[in-house]
Amino acid sequence: MAEEIDYHPMWKDLGMDVEAHDGLLAAVGGMYQDVFLTQENRPKSTEYLDNVVMNIHSGRIKEMVDHKASDGQKVVGSFCLYVPEEIVRAANGIPVGLCSGADWATDKVEEHLPRNTCPLIKSFTGFKLGKVCPYIESSDLVVGENTCDGKKKAYEYFGTQKPMHIMDVPNVKNDGTMANWKAEIRRLAERVEQETGTKITAESLKEAIRVTNDKRRALQRLSATRAADPVPISGRDSLLTVQAAFMDDAERLTGAINAMADECEQRVRDGVGVAPKGTKRILYTGTPMAVPFWKLFSLIEKAGAVIVGEECCTGYRYYKDLVDESGKTVDEMLDAIAERYFNINCAIFTPNPGRIEDVMRLAKELHADGIIDCSLQFCTLYDMESFTLEKAAKEAGIPYMHISTDYSNEDAGQLSTRVEAFVEMI
Ligand code: SF4
Ligand code: SF4
Repeated sequence: MAEEIDYHPMWKDLGMDVEAHDGLLAAVGGMYQDVFLTQENRPKSTEYLDNVVMNIHSGRIKEMVDHKASDGQKVVGSFCLYVPEEIVRAANGIPVGLCSGADWATDKVEEHLPRNTCPLIKSFTGFKLGKVCPYIESSDLVVGENTCDGKKKAYEYFGTQKPMHIMDVPNVKNDGTMANWKAEIRRLAERVEQETGTKITAESLKEAIRVTNDKRRALQRLSATRAADPVPISGRDSLLTVQAAFMDDAERLTGAINAMADECEQRVRDGVGVAPKGTKRILYTGTPMAVPFWKLFSLIEKAGAVIVGEECCTGYRYYKDLVDESGKTVDEMLDAIAERYFNINCAIFTPNPGRIEDVMRLAKELHADGIIDCSLQFCTLYDMESFTLEKAAKEAGIPYMHISTDYSNEDAGQLSTRVEAFVEMI
């Protein structure tokens, strides 16, 4: 039997509130059991996801802490898809996602941020103030971005807690803003080089682009299997693959996702599904779903539907585009990175027709019977865009439902009733 490792000393060294953190881990473990381990007919290769969650605050953090100690690597945390992980990797850094999906230390948070702030922003602030996130605590540099108003103002406070670099993300797409964005990408590269003490070279950037593209290629393969009926893998497990992509080692994740894609492709050939053929198929779109915010996916699938795609930052937007691999110089590759990231269709852009087109195309390709569009409470951007989406769905004849929710469980009963009615109707 493997020796049990006690990670408490490591968490203590990171400056965490070990007792509060034990409580968080117990709660997440319970949620995981209820949301994931009660599923029937999961692909066997999803065992990888169980391991990721089991090690998320322990073994994975130990690996990063060890790399910091032995190779002098630096951890660079971020909250948004516009922060290119290729740049961090090319400078010998370890990129990690810091978005969090649970209410924590809300009283303390509300001493610094307004009550009516989106739960995602309150959550990462609460995880810092409550000292329960080893990813935040082990980050040497945190990269924020001027995206929505809530985040950009919250970073003013967060920057008093951690060393930060802020990227200016444009809100419209044209040649002028692309030029600014390319300059921002270079500013980030310089800042990361300063932090890691490692110069980005053509070789290291090429390799970082390849490693990151491989991750995205594996996720694309897996996603393609979800067009089948019966669908081989659940929305819950698929969501977790992308959540894991923000935390786990890139090459390990790529190998595991390719193994999942192999198994799911075989399942499609054999007609094996996670839900029976003919189960109602939902396309999710909206705000990101950070770990451990699994409430909505769980209740949609427990209502008898299956989620076949996620048009969001913890889904399709993460893996839909690759960085062009033909660049030879650092400059050419930084341009290619800028171009790839400028293609992300977040609601911070105005207008944002690319997102509407993506949703409609995915609904068609994945044979969705309905679209569920969710915005986290107080997220004006996604709330506003829901009207455009609803209109487009109506014109395309696809049933559509908009949900606004938060990280609490208070609305779970009411949401279940609405989702069940929607699934029955489509
Ligand atoms: S929804 Fe927009 S602001 Fe949020 S992570 Fe995605 S790209 Fe960034
Ligand atoms: S969900 Fe909306 S309000 Fe919250 S951080 Fe993302 S874009 Fe900002």
